[in-house]
Amino acid sequence: MSKTHVYDMIIVGGGPGGYTAAIYAASAGLDTLVLEKLSAGGQMALSEEINNYPGFEEGVDGYTLAEKMQRQAERFGARTVYAEVERMELAAEPKVLETGEGVFHARTVALATGAGPRELGLADEAELVGRGVAYCAACDGMRYRGKTVVVVGGGNSAAGDALALSRIAEKVILVHRRDKLRATKAYDRPLSQAGNIEFRWNSAVVELLHGDKLSGVRLRDVNTGEETELACDGVFISVGRKPATELVKGQLELDKNGYIAADETTKTSLPGVYAVGDVRTKALRQVVTAMADGAAAVHMAEEYLAGGE
Ligand code: NAP
Repeated sequence: MSKTHVYDMIIVGGGPGGYTAAIYAASAGLDTLVLEKLSAGGQMALSEEINNYPGFEEGVDGYTLAEKMQRQAERFGARTVYAEVERMELAAEPKVLETGEGVFHARTVALATGAGPRELGLADEAELVGRGVAYCAACDGMRYRGKTVVVVGGGNSAAGDALALSRIAEKVILVHRRDKLRATKAYDRPLSQAGNIEFRWNSAVVELLHGDKLSGVRLRDVNTGEETELACDGVFISVGRKPATELVKGQLELDKNGYIAADETTKTSLPGVYAVGDVRTKALRQVVTAMADGAAAVHMAEEYLAGGE
């Protein structure tokens, strides 16, 4: 009977946090595996242009950056298996990860599963994805060339999406439930200079109007309750993110928003398990902050493997 192979570290999720952990772990000589369900990069791979990533003065597209990180990790000997993790036993020794491609074992696990878009929870929202409802301007914006689109939300994502879409669509209407954005002030000027962005303040989308595909949205004024219909070809929902923590519920402590409770050490409530990047409690979710977590997780894992906590 063949002996079970036990990795020093398995990293779940191949975004910038996950691959930074892989680079640090493999270069420290740890036997390292990345489990990634789709392709390297996570959310970052969907960004056409990342302008605040240091060292690329002209900006860099997320897909290219992800490929480079993966190749760098592989140069040090990290392996990637493309498989979706279906079940984990994180308290076990060694830890067990069941995937569609088989069962893997590891002494330590870094969870870098990221976060996905939050839905509005409206009737027919899921059915209309790809037929007028979208969550990613960088991915689906090009379908709306010369059309009218609504962007819902008031944070940095909504502001960035409205701006990106203003270069493609004929008209962008930003719908927000408050009377001002919470996005950084840096967006104010470009949003007002775009020329084709309108704002609907104090408004909530309460219904998606559609036949076969989306034809508009019903808005409700949050102060007066008055409802109006707004015709549009697409609605981009940019109302924040929700962490991919389904698989760890009941095993790890989560914060009140559902993120894995962990500070900058990335240590979770279980020894040998680390939370890296957008999936953990943190103030700023960016490529560089996810990468910092990847490095920290490996530092902590090395101490743990050496017999520490
Ligand atoms: P966010 O900052 O949490 O903002 C979410 C927005 O959606 C808020 O304006 C919120 O309204 C609204 N919202 C939430 N649920 C809603 C609902 N059910 N109906 C209507 N509106 C709803 O999320 P984000 O903009 O996706 O950003 C996530 C993180 O990524 C942030 O840390 C952000 O700074 C970062 N990010 C940074 C950049 C950048 O640096 N350029 C770009 C994108 C994202 P309220 O204001 O009423 O709460």
